[in-house]
Amino acid sequence: MEQVRKWFLENRRSFPWREGVSAYLVLVSEVMLQQTRASVVIDYFNRWMKRFPTIEMLSQATESEVIKLWEGLGYYSRARNLLEIAKEIVSQYDGRIPDTLAELLRLKGIGDYTAGAILAFGFHKKSVALDGNVTRVVSRLVAFEKDAKKHANELRQIVYDLLPDREPHIVMEGLIELGATICAKNPLCNLCPLKENCIAYKKGIATTFPILPQRKPITELFRLVGCISFQNEYLVKQGEKGKIMASLFEFPYIDCEKDLILSCSQKKLEQLLEIQLKLIAPLQREKHHFTRYRAHLFPFHFEVSSKREILGYRWVKKNLLNTLPFSSGHKKVLTQL
Ligand code: SF4
Repeated sequence: MEQVRKWFLENRRSFPWREGVSAYLVLVSEVMLQQTRASVVIDYFNRWMKRFPTIEMLSQATESEVIKLWEGLGYYSRARNLLEIAKEIVSQYDGRIPDTLAELLRLKGIGDYTAGAILAFGFHKKSVALDGNVTRVVSRLVAFEKDAKKHANELRQIVYDLLPDREPHIVMEGLIELGATICAKNPLCNLCPLKENCIAYKKGIATTFPILPQRKPITELFRLVGCISFQNEYLVKQGEKGKIMASLFEFPYIDCEKDLILSCSQKKLEQLLEIQLKLIAPLQREKHHFTRYRAHLFPFHFEVSSKREILGYRWVKKNLLNTLPFSSGHKKVLTQL
């Protein structure tokens, strides 16, 4: 693995979470990087560290504060978990992030990958962080013929055996970087430091690895979104606890057909809210991806002639809407108002 170490030290990309080492910094960056590209995470990470430079400061935050900082990054349970972890570490571990796998795995939302990454990069232990990138590199390196998800423990052992005893974290991070930049979906094998040892490359079958189970298909959703105003206030709803959009704000909406028939859908929305809507203007359509859904939003500006309280909803002054954490699709709609 000396080739990977050398290659990584010469080619590593610079990211804010790679400047200086602390287990807290690794914890925050690794949770942010789950399901999200590094280039997207940079600004969020910098803002987060400015607001919560220590785990103690994070532990004193409110849920709305962390959700607001996370706004647009998606998978909001990650932000709520980070807050819970911070509270637990301050109360149970005197503010010090634990350095054993068993203790880390007991923390909310911390799985094998994140725990392995914290041990490797936060504590420089010989530890495996098996993410999608490493799975791809190692599956190709050894031509791993089994389902890489089902047999992840076997892959973890292979990676562990590849790590040197001296500064194992450098090779571990090098394998992640290699998967992110060279051994990508379409691998650039000519540039790869492992090409002499790579079985899949030598056999010309690199892209057949890793072997993964079929993904669940994306479900398309079509929604009429009502930006309903009375004077300078708009009607919004906060997602309920335990639901997919928990804590996030959205405008009222109803599911509709792909080919929206405005009059029908408007009527349904009126029935849902028990109010009469006056159409002011259509807004620009927006798309929004979350978990395994793709929502097509058809937003319209409506007005009501009198204000009434509606169970589960609240009226918010237009200039305060921006201070609330919105789901990313409805955030796009909000910018049009
Ligand atoms: S030689 Fe190609 S397939 Fe093998 S690890 Fe390198 S980039 Fe991946």
